Amino acid sequence: MKALEGKAALVTGAGRGIGRVSALAFAAAGASVVAVDIDEGSAKETAALVHGAGGDATYFRADLTRATDVAGMVAYAVSAYGRLDCAHNNAGILGASAVFHEYDDDEWAKVVAVNQTGVYLAMKHEIAAFLANRTAGAIVNTASYSALVAVPFACAYVASKHAVVGMTKAAAIEYGRKGIRVNAVCPGTVRTEMTVQRIDGNPKMEEAILGVTPMRRLAEPEEVAAAAVWLCSDAASFVNGHALSVDGGAVAQ
Ligand code: NAD
Repeated sequence: MKALEGKAALVTGAGRGIGRVSALAFAAAGASVVAVDIDEGSAKETAALVHGAGGDATYFRADLTRATDVAGMVAYAVSAYGRLDCAHNNAGILGASAVFHEYDDDEWAKVVAVNQTGVYLAMKHEIAAFLANRTAGAIVNTASYSALVAVPFACAYVASKHAVVGMTKAAAIEYGRKGIRVNAVCPGTVRTEMTVQRIDGNPKMEEAILGVTPMRRLAEPEEVAAAAVWLCSDAASFVNGHALSVDGGAVAQ
């Protein structure tokens, strides 16, 4: 029996990077998956990749910053598979790089809208669906290494990712008695488009990242996806309100 056999899952930011690999991993673990992204074409492509790998998936376009889109996303997931058991709220953006006192206000609002409000809205509607269907659901939010310690020149990202861990804990203590578990993964630097854009042609940046990573390498998206699958599975049945570092030991030093 696979870890998520018979479960229905949704994964946000599933059009590429960690989210795409997570959608594949949830499906490989036996779940039927709704791949959600603001970029419909890439979400569709992810669903096709899942099918190609012998899994079950569909896709949905949603801008996680819009409450109506998020409500539609959860309603779609429930109608597609008759239930919702797991959600990996993973969509996020890095935002511009600038010192705190020069950070652009519009950029701040954009980053907070996706990383914080987007996760808040998704959790709200997912939990409502769990309660309506009496499902002992599991949520895993993608936070970051930057949710536990600060990194420079990214105040909006750091603040919004700290908020993700805060919201994870807030929901975990409110719904634990209903059997609903809410956890977060805190990846170090992962080899995805988001990172490659920063590192490419900037060897100093890569050196700096490796310098704070005891395992002296980037994470692969598969390593983050595996943690998300585990947190949603019954193997983690008493893990609730936890922020799990997947960072090669970075936050330990
Ligand atoms: P990515 O940029 O490769 O992919 C993010 C996906 O989210 C894209 O497909 C994008 O279209 C989608 N998205 C962005 N805004 C959206 C919105 N408003 N509504 C719906 N979808 C939206 O990023 P990634 O590297 O795969 O990162 C995924 C998550 O992991 C993010 O939350 C990121 O902050 C977090 N994270 C990444 C790293 C890293 O090093 N890559 C490290 C720690 C945490």
